[in-house]
Amino acid sequence: MSKSTETMEKIVALCRRRGFIFGSSEIYGGIGGFWDYGPLGVELKRNIKDCWWNDMIHNPPPGPNGRTFQMVGVDCSIIMNPKVWEASGHVGGFADPMRKCDGCGHFVREDQLWEILASDSKWLDSLLQVFTPVTGSIDSPRLLNWAKSKGRKLAPNLALVRNPEVTLSWLASRVNGQPDAPPTVQEICQYVATEQLHQTGLQDPCPRCGNPLGPAAPFKLMFESHTGIEQNEGSKVYLRPETAQGIFVNFKNVMDSTRVKIPFGIGQIGKAFRNEITPRNYTFRSREFEHMEIEFFCNPKESMVWYEFWRDVRIKWYESLGIKSDKLRPREQGEDELAHYSDACTDIEYMFPFADEPQELEGVAHRGNFDLSAHGKASKGKENAFAVMDDSEQNRDRKGAGSSPARFVPHVIEPSAGVDRFTLAAITEAYSFDENRASPEFMKFHPRLAPIKAAVFPLVAKDGMPEIAEPIYQEIRKQFTCRYDAKQSIGKRYARMDEAGTPFCFTIDSQTKEDGTVTVRNRDDASQDRIDKSRCLQYLRDKLGL
Ligand code: ATP
Repeated sequence: MSKSTETMEKIVALCRRRGFIFGSSEIYGGIGGFWDYGPLGVELKRNIKDCWWNDMIHNPPPGPNGRTFQMVGVDCSIIMNPKVWEASGHVGGFADPMRKCDGCGHFVREDQLWEILASDSKWLDSLLQVFTPVTGSIDSPRLLNWAKSKGRKLAPNLALVRNPEVTLSWLASRVNGQPDAPPTVQEICQYVATEQLHQTGLQDPCPRCGNPLGPAAPFKLMFESHTGIEQNEGSKVYLRPETAQGIFVNFKNVMDSTRVKIPFGIGQIGKAFRNEITPRNYTFRSREFEHMEIEFFCNPKESMVWYEFWRDVRIKWYESLGIKSDKLRPREQGEDELAHYSDACTDIEYMFPFADEPQELEGVAHRGNFDLSAHGKASKGKENAFAVMDDSEQNRDRKGAGSSPARFVPHVIEPSAGVDRFTLAAITEAYSFDENRASPEFMKFHPRLAPIKAAVFPLVAKDGMPEIAEPIYQEIRKQFTCRYDAKQSIGKRYARMDEAGTPFCFTIDSQTKEDGTVTVRNRDDASQDRIDKSRCLQYLRDKLGL
């Protein structure tokens, strides 16, 4: 078992044992892709959402020009008029038989696979330059060289790259076995994607990463339900797969009911549902999860500046909450990956222990005016139905000259984050193991995220100690999540708090009765201080900076 798999198993076990995360409906065998957060998990998740709401909606950093800008929130219904999902492209876009790549998550329409491979696959294009099937033999050293160099970069999940010797032997036996019938491009593709021919038969590769594609399925990303008694096409509704559309369809409501002006943002935190074909990697890819999304509306002329602003703000936000920068990777999408309406997109990725490559935590996308135009057209018959006046300084100055358009449909920058993915990242980042400690496993959460901020322990449940401890606990719990525990040995109580990631524990002992001081134990280095019992709350405030 690799070290990272072992670490992941330990983390999953700790999360279960200590009540961070349970499988949903476990007593009935569970249900794939759904998870429940226990008493510690729910506090951690709430802290993440509170930090996001506070740092992005109530108190965002100043904008690129150093000025403050407006951010407001909404909380929209999960089920909306199905026309929303038609206009957004979610209904039509997922109605065709799709094949999913488990390697990179890419979906390919079954009927377009070979066309896409032929015209739009970088790795195949490159491979065909070193492949010479028409000669009736293959140049194995050249192919091996390709697999170990260009192949690794262009098609990391292709069988020829992962296991070149075995894959090449299948290919060679095909080419040499039928010298008069050289393989077609389609066959070449299938052979280089196949590692165990006898077991799996020929595989079809993903045009992007080369991994064998899954079977075709009429892919319905969205969960369906019905409103009312009659269950027919007319009553069909969808559980939202993202919170963003609720924001777009309320754009005008927000503008009309508040005093916000472009540039401004609307944020929303809420549940989203995706009928993922292969939920995996613990909570990383779930079928029910929570989004924290901002749609930031700006003047098209300034949209790239705002895009860069939000990308940087969001990266710094993760760092400010304890995610180490060397584990974070902002990956700018290549032009071939971008949606047709998008000018730029950065995936903020994190190096989870379960994967060899960093995985997406959040996407920051420049969406142009695609969404507002689509909803304008579908609901009001006009793409520019949600246009706003251009009262930027630049435009005001040039109005006289009559050279600037007076109105525009705002461009949108969308930082879209997953609460559950960040929760998982915070858990894996916090997980620490030190065999020299009495409690080797401990969770080094950033104080803002720690589910429990402090614990109060009477050393023994007698000799007047509980009577001193109880009021300290009552005082602290009014401001911070705090636990009181008078049972078991003090070492065991510290160990429990270490596993929960509690930064500080206050212990009342016999000396407290003599000089009024208590012990404060620090989670990270197990060091101990003594402070006056009246200073516990202030000590916490100072140390946590909250
Ligand atoms: P992926 O490529 O990993 O499927 P995505 O690009 O489809 O993600 P978005 O639609 O951009 O994701 O959603 C924004 C964020 O929502 C993601 O960065 C991720 O944090 C979270 N997210 C998306 N799908 C899931 C899921 N199935 N389970 C948990 N979180 C998710």
